[in-house]
Amino acid sequence: MSIHMERISADIVIAGGGVAGLSCAAAFGAAGFSVVCVDPAPPVTDNTSADSDHRTTAFFQGSRNFLADAGIWDKLDAHAAPLQVMRIVDAGGVDPEPRVIKDFNASDISDLPFGWNLPNWLLRREMVARLAELDTVDFRAGVGFKSMTTREAEALVMLTDGTQVRCKLVIGADGRNSAVRQAAGIDAKTTRYGQKAVVFAVTHEAPHYNVSTEVHRSGGPFTLVPLPDQDGKPCSAVVWMENGAEVLRLRDLPEDEFNKAATERSAGIYGPLQVVGKRQAWPIISQVADRMTAQRCALVAEAAHVVPPIGAQGLNMSLGDMICLLDLAKERPDGLGDAQMLATYERRRHSEVVLRVKGVDALNRASIAGAQSIRDLRAKGIEALYSVAPVRKALMEMGLGAR
Ligand SMILES: Cc1cc2nc3c(=O)[nH]c(=O)nc-3n(C[C@H](O)[C@H](O)[C@H](O)COP(=O)(O)OP(=O)(O)OC[C@H]3O[C@@H](n4cnc5c(N)ncnc54)[C@H](O)[C@@H]3O)c2cc1C
Repeated sequence: MSIHMERISADIVIAGGGVAGLSCAAAFGAAGFSVVCVDPAPPVTDNTSADSDHRTTAFFQGSRNFLADAGIWDKLDAHAAPLQVMRIVDAGGVDPEPRVIKDFNASDISDLPFGWNLPNWLLRREMVARLAELDTVDFRAGVGFKSMTTREAEALVMLTDGTQVRCKLVIGADGRNSAVRQAAGIDAKTTRYGQKAVVFAVTHEAPHYNVSTEVHRSGGPFTLVPLPDQDGKPCSAVVWMENGAEVLRLRDLPEDEFNKAATERSAGIYGPLQVVGKRQAWPIISQVADRMTAQRCALVAEAAHVVPPIGAQGLNMSLGDMICLLDLAKERPDGLGDAQMLATYERRRHSEVVLRVKGVDALNRASIAGAQSIRDLRAKGIEALYSVAPVRKALMEMGLGAR
């Protein structure tokens, strides 16, 4: 029993200070709502610590607008690499060479790029800096969400340090094993592929021309996403999916062997690849919560949905959740967290999220294909699907979050 028991109140408690929780806190804080945001693990804001996040995130247009309104984009703009073209390469023939290449150019549907790519550790640094500017946001690192009791009119949140927070809305942005989701009694369905991703950055001789490329062969996609030049050399972030044991083997290979393996798996599209910095392994799953709401409680981001990193859907879907939630809150601030607001959020977001999780799951299964006959079918599928103009346009607009 804690002797020192602080009692505070706020409009919103956000559990989770990952990229999702930090964005959420900045967005609601900038809109004038008072926010307490908690995370037991203080955010790592450099790229040299053992637990730095070496993933990168490609933000689509809708996400960029949301971050601009939250006062974050200004701080990110200078570090972002634009993505003008999304390229899909099938290299699933007997030899690891490109045999089908399909390009989507953002200029077909917009005068802006598809998206902008940024390192996750840098996102955390700039988002934490933004929260410090907002006197509406009380960010408490080192403290977690422990439990909650809810009533029709409000929620009472217990934090791990004994603090109690009275609020109108609890937002669970606390990741795939969400404590908020469990406290709300919401189940989630998880699909395991036996896959992991090895994540790293490479420099290469050939310029990337702001093209993001997914190379399919077997085991999952190998994706190169543009980064700003490093030491005067073109640079890309890579996500390489494979079965779990293979990813761990690759992560631990001596550097020159790793460079060789990565270059071969890239089908040589940029010439020899040279890894820079650390390699990191991430588990790959799909997961979707049965519901995204409970009394006085909404789930966002990985607390609600997890997808394999294909088509940069993950965090963009997460910001989509927040865009919807914030719109509803601004429309009727007095109704923050009430049954009507949450029912609308559930209706607008859940089926959309389920659909996208299914779509990414299907793409991932097609990409895992090891048997030559199935790989040949996939190449034909890519050829057929992406050649039909309306389908291409629909896929591109989905990527942009335009629908
Ligand atoms: C290899 C890879 C590449 C990716 N690339 C992209 C991309 O290009 N574009 C894209 O949109 N998405 C991408 N994603 C997905 C994206 O990285 C994730 O969606 C995002 O990082 C998840 O953020 P999150 O904040 O929901 O979860 P997390 O980062 O897991 O954050 C959850 C936070 O909650 C905290 N927490 C845990 N328990 C509690 C508690 N009890 N109370 C309070 N806080 C708690 C944790 O400490 C953690 O900080 C990628 C994913 C992977 C694996």
